[in-house]
Amino acid sequence: MKEIKIGNVSGEPGKINYGFLDILEHPVGTVERLPIIIAQGLKDGPVLWLTANIHGDEYTGIPVIHRVIKNIYIKELKGAIVAIPTLNPSGSRIKTRYPYFDKKDPNRLFPDGNPFKDKSKTDKSSVSQIVLDEVQKDADISIKTEQVIKISVEDEEKTEIKDPLAVYDNEELYPSTQEMIWKKLFEIIKSSADYLIDLHNAFIKSIPFIFLDRVLYNDNLGEDAKKEAEELYKKTEEMVKAFGFTVVRETTPTKYIQKKLHRSTSGAALNYLRIPSFTVELGMYLDVEPEVVDAATVGVLNVLKWSGMIAGYIEKIKDVPVIAENAAVRHIGHPRAKESSIIELKVKKGDFVKKGDVVAKAKDIFGRPLASGSEIKTEVNGYVFMINEGILRYPNEEICWLAAEDVKPMVDKWPKKSQIQQ
Ligand SMILES: [Zn+2]
Repeated sequence: MKEIKIGNVSGEPGKINYGFLDILEHPVGTVERLPIIIAQGLKDGPVLWLTANIHGDEYTGIPVIHRVIKNIYIKELKGAIVAIPTLNPSGSRIKTRYPYFDKKDPNRLFPDGNPFKDKSKTDKSSVSQIVLDEVQKDADISIKTEQVIKISVEDEEKTEIKDPLAVYDNEELYPSTQEMIWKKLFEIIKSSADYLIDLHNAFIKSIPFIFLDRVLYNDNLGEDAKKEAEELYKKTEEMVKAFGFTVVRETTPTKYIQKKLHRSTSGAALNYLRIPSFTVELGMYLDVEPEVVDAATVGVLNVLKWSGMIAGYIEKIKDVPVIAENAAVRHIGHPRAKESSIIELKVKKGDFVKKGDVVAKAKDIFGRPLASGSEIKTEVNGYVFMINEGILRYPNEEICWLAAEDVKPMVDKWPKKSQIQQ
């Protein structure tokens, strides 16, 4: 069995141990720490990481972790569960998505595994050297970084103008507080995790679902890289199916990188650490729906059964609707408002809509139909799995999110730099 030690807590056969990992000293001298649970079985087996509440106003993952830990017969567990009920204590205590000391989306700040990330902003001065050192330092968490280093050197050699100010302009040299915290945590994940599930919440009107990320590979590394990616995707898809929720595929590779989704908790675990990982969205944020906690607990236990960590048959999810079963769907924001309006919804979360169906009616603030036409219709078939909040819409704002048929491959190449630039 792997030895697991995180902060002041260690894994012990047959025990559930609790403790903390110090992550930051505030300027006022107090310390930010993450609560850590290590539940280790008596027998060897995989290590599942369960994380929650990285967005401080998304609470459902916390009771799900409590329930899973309570449901485990530790003497019968094979392997270990590492659970972190909150990845964002500072955001959580003030009910905000972001931590107050670093107001960026913390779920886009994990280490960047993109082999084609832009290094051309640096010149051949000392900056290049620092950047290369950083890449080399990252070598232990990267797969086959030799190629990455070679590519970035070639890029830099093409840059001839020396800019003495480049060092101060290069944000990669000044990672933010949260980025530095995640870099440390990522090393710990790397040292122990075989699987990872990150628990989130979505819109107030949303059905619980899983975001399934595409597995990306570096096509400069030949056929083996593609094969490895296919294997990783197969395993990840199996794990997602075992959980049992509605599955919605993440966006296409170029948009995935543009939105920094490869730097989310599960995105970085999957596409950088190369371990099966996914994000679960557990219905509404800011509060907890008990039936979703019930369903997600069953989902996590299903994954433990699938991986052989506990005995038993995989249970069907009954407490929440499961839609788009056996369909390959990805999310799009559709349809959108044509002009500023007050909308009246004509659909409910979970509905299937067909091309031409009215999703909402748009009116002006006096309740009168709009001159441009008040019916907002869908142009594609799909499932309404999330409805954007509120009744006001500006031009081009989405009414809802549809899960519509996806024809793009789930194993794909990392997009090259030129494709990523917007
Ligand atoms: Zn979230």
